[in-house]
Amino acid sequence: MSDERRVPWILGTHLHPAVGPLERAPTDSRVLLIEAHDFARRKRYHHHKLTIVFAGMRQFRDTLRERGYEVEYIKAETFADGLATYFDRYPDDELVQMRSPSHRSAETFESLVEDAGGALDVVQNELFVGTRKAFDEWSNATDKDPFRHETFYRWMRQQTGVLMTDDGEPVGGEWNYDSENQDFPPESWDSPPVLEPEHDELTQQTSEWIAAEFDTWGSTTDLVWPVTRAQAKRKLDHFVANRLPSFGPYQDAMRSDDWAMAHALLGSSINLGLLHPWEAVTAIEQAYHERDEIPLNSAEGVVRQLIGWREFMRHVYRHEMPQLATANQLDAGTDLPAFYWTGNTNMSCLRQTIGAVRDRGYAHHIQRLMVLANFATLWGVQPAQLNEWFHATYVDAYHWVTTPNVVEMGQYGDGVFASKPYVSSANYIDKMSDYCSDCRYDKTKDTGNRACPFNALYWDFLDRNEDKLRSNHRMGLMYSHVDSKQESGAMTEIKDRVETLRQKQRHGEL
Ligand SMILES: Cc1cc2nc3c(=O)[nH]c(=O)nc-3n(C[C@H](O)[C@H](O)[C@H](O)COP(=O)(O)OP(=O)(O)OC[C@H]3O[C@@H](n4cnc5c(N)ncnc54)[C@H](O)[C@@H]3O)c2cc1C
Ligand code: SF4
Repeated sequence: MSDERRVPWILGTHLHPAVGPLERAPTDSRVLLIEAHDFARRKRYHHHKLTIVFAGMRQFRDTLRERGYEVEYIKAETFADGLATYFDRYPDDELVQMRSPSHRSAETFESLVEDAGGALDVVQNELFVGTRKAFDEWSNATDKDPFRHETFYRWMRQQTGVLMTDDGEPVGGEWNYDSENQDFPPESWDSPPVLEPEHDELTQQTSEWIAAEFDTWGSTTDLVWPVTRAQAKRKLDHFVANRLPSFGPYQDAMRSDDWAMAHALLGSSINLGLLHPWEAVTAIEQAYHERDEIPLNSAEGVVRQLIGWREFMRHVYRHEMPQLATANQLDAGTDLPAFYWTGNTNMSCLRQTIGAVRDRGYAHHIQRLMVLANFATLWGVQPAQLNEWFHATYVDAYHWVTTPNVVEMGQYGDGVFASKPYVSSANYIDKMSDYCSDCRYDKTKDTGNRACPFNALYWDFLDRNEDKLRSNHRMGLMYSHVDSKQESGAMTEIKDRVETLRQKQRHGEL
């Protein structure tokens, strides 16, 4: 087939002009985008999430047209309808699409195109730093566990040369400065400014159309997320210039009324393709070498997220699907409490975090892990239900990235890379946040009317899952406490307290 008839089909999460088939197509060539609406009706997505996807696609359409591409932009209920329209017009075209990271997406799209009477070539996704092939070759050859994040991360640092010396050693002598990422800021610390993009009429109209057309969740105003590449690049520049220095020390801290702390706020843009992760990594590395005020624990901290965790999750997902989506090694079978949707709870940490997600479709990593997923794990929520919730409510959520983060890291569903559940009592939340000081519950108590629910639930969780967790050497200390609570009879009171908490939740009083 001649190259003229090979038409790039750009998905809504591939909105980058300089990668893949689009980069290689002449600037006057035809390009296809299908705005399929049925996926937006499948769940109650956050309004801002739908806005950045649909407005992002429409903005990208206009940018490509300005650059001379002949853009076929088809609005349709389903991809099948959109493809039927396309091949009616251009029966001789072959579509070429970068592989979406979603499970079996290539097979799904291939069969849709075949049903529409056309042809599709699915090619490598160039919106990651590494490739599937390189990971698979390395993981087959290595005698280490490729699904251990630290092993993978060191390999990625060596492969990319990022923050490496000429002698092949990590800059600063250590690979990982996580232990320097766990401070809580003094009261006098003001978090750095957040850059909020100005949205044009096209984005405004798209936002209003979404509010009218779909049953959404969360705020329908005050969109703070980029929808164009120019906005995303400005957000990256602003992060590197203003926020990066304090990212490191306060990465794990949580404060009331401080939704952004010093986080990058780049996840939605990177996952839409507005920014390539490599653009972020190189900007951060360059700034680190040029500016003395950027500590290594800040630069390494973000690099670890981008070339470590983000890439790692992609490979875990593709190797562990489909079983990862339903993995539930702790046999957790409880429904997600309704307050995840309403925010109606007396627990200050959860109320404030859920409120932040309703406002912007965002909460940072530790709020996701140690508040939202922690509580759900202690409560015994079925991991797939929490995964659904995250998928619907976050601006940066896509199945390939929520599933390993929520089911495995958040809820210890499978054990493929998590070596123990990330669970804690009020202790951790109190150490890393100011939520407890303004809470109706008492962080120091396990039982009694005002005792913090996390405490009783924590001991109950360990007791309930004893046969699966006691032999884990990383849990030994915790089980020595469980033993004393069992022997003293305190565990019986804890169980009663948990029963009361469950009743309170059923009556909307937790
Ligand atoms: C329960 C749970 C659910 C999560 N759901 C998502 C999700 O739906 N989408 C998503 O992109 N990330 C998810 N994460 C990972 C991480 O929390 C977010 O990427 C991060 O909070 C995004 O905010 P930021 O851009 O300010 O990131 P920062 O914390 O400033 O990090 C910089 C960048 O690193 C990348 N990154 C960091 N950690 C991860 C990770 N664990 N997995 C993938 N990328 C990572 C992101 O691209 C992020 O923009 C989840 C984590 C947990 C524990
Ligand atoms: S006391 Fe318990 S419920 Fe309240 S904020 Fe602290 S950890 Fe959360």
